[in-house]
Amino acid sequence: MSSIITQPPSCLSWQQELACSFSDPEHLLDHLGLERKLCNRRASASFAFRVPRPFAALMRRGDPQDPLLLQVLPLGEENAETPGFLSDPVGDRQAQVAPGLIHKYQGRALLIATGACAVHCRYCFRREYPYHDNQLTGGRLQTVLMYLHNEPSIQEIILSGGDPLVMSDSKLDTLIAALADVPHLRRLRIHSRLPVVLPSRVDGGLIETLTASRLQTLMVVHINHANEIDDDVRVAIERLKGAGLLVLNQSTLLAGINDDLDTLTELQEQLFEAGILPYYLHLLDRAQGTAHFEVPESSAKALHEGLRRRLPGYLVPRLARDNPHTPYKTLL
Ligand SMILES: *Cc1c(COP(=O)(O)O)cnc(C)c1O
Ligand code: SF4
Repeated sequence: MSSIITQPPSCLSWQQELACSFSDPEHLLDHLGLERKLCNRRASASFAFRVPRPFAALMRRGDPQDPLLLQVLPLGEENAETPGFLSDPVGDRQAQVAPGLIHKYQGRALLIATGACAVHCRYCFRREYPYHDNQLTGGRLQTVLMYLHNEPSIQEIILSGGDPLVMSDSKLDTLIAALADVPHLRRLRIHSRLPVVLPSRVDGGLIETLTASRLQTLMVVHINHANEIDDDVRVAIERLKGAGLLVLNQSTLLAGINDDLDTLTELQEQLFEAGILPYYLHLLDRAQGTAHFEVPESSAKALHEGLRRRLPGYLVPRLARDNPHTPYKTLL
């Protein structure tokens, strides 16, 4: 009966809650008391709309400039063709060594464990990633595992996506157990937005799954604005930390959402209060349809300088860019 205390105060399972997500931008706009014409149909047809209820609940009613809404609202600007904005801006495809496995950096390999996400972020750089060609079905997983077994330099496996925590506990269990069988792997890193956009995902089952293997496990959550952090998120993070995981955050610098010094400062403060350490502040990856989110590099550097002036060193995220041909993130 301990589940009564350890489960979030919701009668729905996380899967049910996920299934109740907004999948039509007009419904979300209605819910927020905003005009339907704020969203663009063509944009939402080219990259589907998806927003879990707990994330929507943190948006301000009646505010078309809400920083959480702007991360997910399909706008006409997405239909613009901007030179220099590509379908594969970070060179994922050429660094792919097995289905869904990207080995670009020394000692680390990134596995696209699933194409599904709980939230669809309009600035996403994998909007056009060919997920369907890379589903991790039996034979493909064997190819991935074979590559890892034959590559003793790899010490860390990064589960990314899509969002790996959309997978069920039993699928994750199987995957993590197979990875832990690769003798030279030391660490498992999970990049996920679920602890934030659907905090009920961090339930007892997930904690068991994440602590069952011999691998040292860390989680990188993706929070772009302090308004994303509420009590449910804090509880989810506390659970992860209680299970011994290191929890880090990466943000993307996004025009009109978090590109001012007060917003960024408050984000780092709130992260720390929630037990999360800032890791990266990324410049936008130049994916087709995301140009309106870009913050010029000179402004990014000035903002970062401001953070260094205002915050203790451990609360200053590394300002970084992902270049297609550089085998590590470029620090600015
Ligand atoms: C970002 C990234 C990593 C991880 O880089 P860190 O600097 O270790 O966080 C690994 N592989 C790929 C392909 C990446 O894009
Ligand atoms: S991969 Fe990450 S950034 Fe892209 S839609 Fe999914 S959660 Fe958002």
